[in-house]
Amino acid sequence: MYITGAIGQTHYGRSSRLDKIEEGFIDEYMMPNMTAYNETCANICNSMFNYRMLTLTGDAKHGDVMELVLHNSGLSGISLDGKNYYYSNPLRKIEGALDYEKMNVEFPERQPYLKCFCCPPNLVRTIAKSPGWAYSKSENGIAVNLYGGNELNTTLLDGSTIKLTQKTDYPWDGAVKITVDESKADTFDILLRIPSWAKGTQIYVNGIKAAEAVPGTFAKIERKWAAGDEITIDMPMETKFIEGHPRIEEVRNQVALKRGPVVYCIESADLPEKTDITNVYLSSDKKLSPTSRPDFLGGVTTLEGEILIRKDKLGEMYQEVSVPEFESFKTNFIPYYAWSNRGQGEMTVFLPVIWN
Ligand SMILES: [Zn+2]
Repeated sequence: MYITGAIGQTHYGRSSRLDKIEEGFIDEYMMPNMTAYNETCANICNSMFNYRMLTLTGDAKHGDVMELVLHNSGLSGISLDGKNYYYSNPLRKIEGALDYEKMNVEFPERQPYLKCFCCPPNLVRTIAKSPGWAYSKSENGIAVNLYGGNELNTTLLDGSTIKLTQKTDYPWDGAVKITVDESKADTFDILLRIPSWAKGTQIYVNGIKAAEAVPGTFAKIERKWAAGDEITIDMPMETKFIEGHPRIEEVRNQVALKRGPVVYCIESADLPEKTDITNVYLSSDKKLSPTSRPDFLGGVTTLEGEILIRKDKLGEMYQEVSVPEFESFKTNFIPYYAWSNRGQGEMTVFLPVIWN
């Protein structure tokens, strides 16, 4: 699985019986960025599979994958205006002498109509269905699988009414407030999924610390609830550099940026004209600051700060190394799902990093 929750690394490949396959899975740890296929349907299927595994096992790790896909590779298939679609979801795109039919995104930009018409309706119905994944009923209670503003009005397994209101700016902010609007008088559980990235999370009920929050598990609050009770969950959202397993050759000495469940990327629209995306480096000592921009790309939090652009040109298949020259540039990273909404250009999720 890619860092975006995407799966199915290659457009063409071969099966273990040496049959030619399309949209296929190749060897473990073989994770190309630029030619990653990652069909939108495959990514969505990954979240559906994990939703079912979550309901069977109650293991929070499946909720993590569901959420990862919903905020990243499940959403990158559709444009912000909802009118255009990608079939494949690579982690890097470069312009130039590429045969789009064979590799990369297949098209330079999202298309209004795809002749193999599976991804667009699958994506749209998954978004429409996703509220149904937000909660699950447990033996004597309710589990909160996903965070996002909503109102819940349902019954517990014993038939008693439960009404909750969830208020939050998640995934841009890690503060979540859940109010009990109506519930039975007897003791029951509210289970809260603590994402595996959410180290240092605190949980309060009516201002009093209520449960231990262990990342990658459900925190259980068992008590008698009354209308007006308020749960506060505070998940620290830090911008993190994420590196791949050393066996993933394609990301050696590179990092991706992640904040909460959202994976970031950088694209041409935020770089000086004619910058090759492969010349963009991150410097480990340059801080990137989350910035809320309600009027940008439909309302996102960007990561703002300095990057380094390598100036010497690399053209040969192999060339002798000299100390590279870099120029500093102030820019922003955008959520991966929002890429390719500002004209044709290049994009990358993983960037080489200079450790200072
Ligand atoms: Zn599809």
